[in-house]
Amino acid sequence: MTTGHATPTGRLAPSPTGGLHLGHARTFLAAWLFARRQGGRVVLRVEDLDASRVRPEAMQGALDDLRWLGLSWDEGPDMGGPSGPYIQTQRLPDYESALRRLQQAGLVYPCTCTRAEVARAVSAPHVEDEGPTYPGTCSGRTVADARALNASRRPFAWRFRVPPGPVTWNDLVQGPTSLDPSLVGGDFIVARATLGPSYQLAVVHDDAAMGVTQVIRGLDLVPSTPRQILLYRALGWEPPAFGHLPLVHGPDGRRLAKRDDSLKLTTLRSTGVDPRALVGWLAMSLGIAGRVEPRAPDAWIERFVPDLIPRTSWTLTADDFDTLHRGRVPR
Ligand code: GLU
Ligand code: ZN
Repeated sequence: MTTGHATPTGRLAPSPTGGLHLGHARTFLAAWLFARRQGGRVVLRVEDLDASRVRPEAMQGALDDLRWLGLSWDEGPDMGGPSGPYIQTQRLPDYESALRRLQQAGLVYPCTCTRAEVARAVSAPHVEDEGPTYPGTCSGRTVADARALNASRRPFAWRFRVPPGPVTWNDLVQGPTSLDPSLVGGDFIVARATLGPSYQLAVVHDDAAMGVTQVIRGLDLVPSTPRQILLYRALGWEPPAFGHLPLVHGPDGRRLAKRDDSLKLTTLRSTGVDPRALVGWLAMSLGIAGRVEPRAPDAWIERFVPDLIPRTSWTLTADDFDTLHRGRVPR
């Protein structure tokens, strides 16, 4: 595992779960511009560990969508590269060895709680998406206790023991940020008995192994960042810089989600939307232009200024939806 990276390196990390939508396009464009403006590399990695959500055809779909937008990458599942494979389900042995290192350091413990038990034990409010903060029911266990649990065939997950106190980072979009992961989420799962490594462990492993120096993603992932920074420290790897982009909201004020099928890139493409106009509109939403100029991503690299990205979410109107449905791009 290398540290002290020379080349700025960004990544696009789609989950092949059902079609990228406009919000993904905006985040991926921003991640790509952050890397390219520094003359950096871009790695494409497919995050397909969540078998219950993955759809086999969605991986090719995501690559096609990103190419349609005009994004490019230097390493990825379709072209290979020095830190492949670029599909997470093909990297399981690597995550196992990272887990073993956490076990050897005594930084994880076996947890036998079910989701329902954790929910019942906690009544405190929790951040949206995050689920309740783990109350520490099993934190008295040590790594050695796993043997007895295995012998009695009791399923368990490995939890990372989160030290109390805030974790801070200088967010590339939000500025200096501080969050205490012991209060938001608490000890978190790094691997499950049957399902294998968690997102947190896999993403940290891969970003480190692939030499990623900057992680640009949606604001919804902020609660993951302190956990991931703790994992970097625990594994002795240098964390990348993190930047969290405000989300896109619909006319109802709710954030766009995969359920907004009409804003899927495949839908827009089949409606005849011009990808360059779409990119121009997204560029405007990122503060780079005052009006929609239809230009491919390459044409925006020099004009991209991260400081101009609005800190508030981008709200689409009902008119915007209508315009897109007619195969046009709002202006
Ligand atoms: N694969 C994740 C997603 O599509 C992104 C994870 C990340 O950026 O760290 O939501
Ligand atoms: Zn437990």
